[in-house]
Amino acid sequence: MPKASPIWHPFTQHALFPQMRTITSASGAWLTDAAGARVFDAVSSWWVVTHGHCHPHIVQAIRDQAGRLDQVIFAGHTHEPAERFAALLLAHLPPSLTRLFFSDSGSTAVEVAIKMALGHFRHRGAARHRIVVMENGYHGDTVGTMSAGERGVFTQPYDPLLYAVDRIPFPAPGREQATLDALDHLARAPETAALLLEPLALGAGGMLFYPPALLAEMAAICARHGVLLIADEVMTGWGRTGRFLACDHAGVVPDILCLSKGITGGHLPLAVTLCREEIFAAHWSQDRRKTFFHSSSYTANPIACAAGVANLEIWANEPVQARIDAVSAAQAKGLARLAAHPKIRGARQLGTLLAAEIGGPGSYMAETGSALLRFFIERNLLIRPLGNTVYLLPPYCSTGAELTACHDALLEAADDLG
Ligand SMILES: *Cc1c(COP(=O)(O)O)cnc(C)c1O
Repeated sequence: MPKASPIWHPFTQHALFPQMRTITSASGAWLTDAAGARVFDAVSSWWVVTHGHCHPHIVQAIRDQAGRLDQVIFAGHTHEPAERFAALLLAHLPPSLTRLFFSDSGSTAVEVAIKMALGHFRHRGAARHRIVVMENGYHGDTVGTMSAGERGVFTQPYDPLLYAVDRIPFPAPGREQATLDALDHLARAPETAALLLEPLALGAGGMLFYPPALLAEMAAICARHGVLLIADEVMTGWGRTGRFLACDHAGVVPDILCLSKGITGGHLPLAVTLCREEIFAAHWSQDRRKTFFHSSSYTANPIACAAGVANLEIWANEPVQARIDAVSAAQAKGLARLAAHPKIRGARQLGTLLAAEIGGPGSYMAETGSALLRFFIERNLLIRPLGNTVYLLPPYCSTGAELTACHDALLEAADDLG
């Protein structure tokens, strides 16, 4: 057990992967390592970078804010970066989402959403407390969000701690009605509080996509039975699917919305949970017991909020949608090439996202996954397969040529390893 560094890395089996690559700088879609090699960041550094690394406008905003107000307790206090961020973000979102709660990661945004939903019913005297989720869903790695996510090798050691949820099947092509029937049945149960799902694209569960019409039907079922719809747009938000929110493709407005990852353009950790007025109103009382009891030390950190403001200014002042459309068009070309390869299955695209399976069926633990990872590392491409599912989730500054090179590498990987 070599002990070069004391650091225990996330989602890393140190026995199989003892050597970490040291990254010293980043710019646009590229990372540079300690040996001077340049690596194309085809997964946006775990799905957070949108416009590109070290975007000058965001870097400047962070510098300015760090010298003005670094941190302040957010209970009983507020500050301009938080207020500006909230105002700018709400202007981007459907008007029925009126209240915004800050936290600092996707997992905490989802935890907050679940607590909001249960608090809402509890404070109104309703007994609703069960959460419905979708098979293959992923909502984070805290105990609360693991409970709501797909169970498997990742969650097994902790199973005794996980709370029970109800699951509807993933709406695979031809099986959509089973999903809707299961939801309709569960939504009628008097204990059901909320449906929590990733709209249109299940990320960590294997980059699985389903059509907008289905999301609209699920939202309608929830509305019909008074079940809250919680949209976990932690991955899908900020343009990844081609629209600002994945829900926008379906004309769906959730009751509660979780955003993180792209919220600061990928520069600093921050998250928000937004909700409808009546959910806030259920907690509004002279009775202290109805307080929303949630906080983290760095709630609404001013520097992170300033990065969030700068991100929204980029959305307002730069041709972000045009870049997203260009990346989507390049990915569509890649889709056609992948779909034609005999050793590639399930090629699929949604906006800037492109995914496919290489070789035979396998789990995350399959050897293909490690071989693929090594294959891409050797080519200085940051592509992290989920088992034998490969996907590209690039920053919006990626060029057509850069994406074509990624598609070439995926095809080559299928030739060699498929
Ligand atoms: C990444 C992710 C999360 C968790 O976000 P963290 O910032 O890693 O805690 C939650 N939901 C979805 C859909 C995600 O992709």
